Amino acid sequence: SGPDAAALVAGRVVDVPDFPKPGIAFKDLTPLFADGPVFREVVDRIVAHHGADSFDVVAGIEARGFVLAAALAYATGTGVVPIRKAGKLPRQTHAASYALEYGEATLEVHQDSFAAGQRVLVVDDVLATGGTAAAALELVERAGGTVSGFTVVMELGFLPGRQRLSPRAVHALLTV
Ligand code: AMP
Repeated sequence: SGPDAAALVAGRVVDVPDFPKPGIAFKDLTPLFADGPVFREVVDRIVAHHGADSFDVVAGIEARGFVLAAALAYATGTGVVPIRKAGKLPRQTHAASYALEYGEATLEVHQDSFAAGQRVLVVDDVLATGGTAAAALELVERAGGTVSGFTVVMELGFLPGRQRLSPRAVHALLTV
């Protein structure tokens, strides 16, 4: 019920051409995050899709994943584990490097982030090539967690992110 996902986010996601480098069409979700009713509806739909009992903790990918992770965790009574860019976490970490749609990066997670077998929902704003999510998967598993699925607001369907994460479940509110 309610508007379809495209209508819900219409006008709340801004396409920024050639950011952060030529040829990349950047999906800017900051207007969606700033719109209270739309943000709440987006979070509620993500929770409804997964069900509040399908995961034990939410792992958010820096930085826009943090915004969603906190809201998802609050809505479901779970907690948040941050997956951060290199050098930000203060204690012992696992690290994974990967290629981005634009450039390269390293992500880290605290080694003691998860109890053994804890079910982890990994969240980010946009799924593009899947490199970031694949690195997050590696980190969650190395830290002892089990990835129950990936969830994003927007998936770039012309890139192979979903295939790369197969057979793990990927949910996108909207695929463009
Ligand atoms: P990827 O690793 O290629 O799937 O890229 C996903 C990560 O980079 C996410 O953290 C996104 O926030 C960001 N990202 C990559 N491409 C875009 C894009 N076209 N628009 C917005 N964010 C993007």
